[in-house]
Amino acid sequence: MLRKDQAICIRTVDYSETSQVLTMFCREAGKQGIMAKGSRRPKSPFGGAIEVFSHGQIVFSEHTEGRLGTFTEFERQGDCMLLRRRLQSLNAGLFAVELVNLLTTEKDPHPEVFDALIRFLGDLEQVGSDAEATQLLIVFQLELLGRLGTGIILGRCANCSAAHAEPWPAYFFSSTAHGMLCRDCEGSFADRIQVSREAGGCLVEPKLNRIRVGKNAGGG
Ligand SMILES: [Zn+2]
Repeated sequence: MLRKDQAICIRTVDYSETSQVLTMFCREAGKQGIMAKGSRRPKSPFGGAIEVFSHGQIVFSEHTEGRLGTFTEFERQGDCMLLRRRLQSLNAGLFAVELVNLLTTEKDPHPEVFDALIRFLGDLEQVGSDAEATQLLIVFQLELLGRLGTGIILGRCANCSAAHAEPWPAYFFSSTAHGMLCRDCEGSFADRIQVSREAGGCLVEPKLNRIRVGKNAGGG
C-alpha cells in the first residue's frame, strides 16, 4: 500500500552504485527504513542523492517483515544547506537527528517530534553565533525528552518536589533522580553532580523557554 507523508532523512547508507538505503523520520508513519532505487544516478528520479536533513513530501510503500520499504516519489522542500555555513550548527543538527534516530523505534509516530525537529533545524540555520546554536540544541534535547515521555524535572526538586527559591543555595543534578535535586536530597543520590549557579539558574524551565534565536543571545 502506498503512503504519502512528510518526512526528513536522518540516516543514509549507500547501496550499490546507484541506490541508497535511507532512514526516514516520517511525520505520521514514524521511522521507516526505505530503499531509494536509482537515487544516486546522474538522472535521479528524486532530484539527486538524498542526504541527511533532506526533507519534503514522500510517497512510499511501507516495508513488510524483513523487507525495506520503497520510495516512489520525493518532493524535496529543503536540505538545510545553511547549516553548513557554521560548524557548530552542522554538529548540532547532526547530533539532533542522531538522537531522534536512537530514541525512536520503527513505525512509532511522533508528529510533534517531527515538527520540533523541522523547527529546530530551521532556527539553527538562522543563528548568529556558536553559543546560540548550543542553546537551541539544549532546548531541543529537553523538548525531545519531554515529547518521548522521559522529560527531566527542572523546575523543582525531583525527589521531594521542593520548589525553587530564588536563589537556591546550590544546584545538583542526578540522572537516577531524573532531574534537579535540592540540598536536602542530594546526599541520597550517589550519581548527583553539582551544577554551577549560572547553569543551574538557566536550567529552570521558564528561563529556558525564553531562549530564542536573536533574542537573549548570550543571556538567559
Ligand atoms: Zn529535595
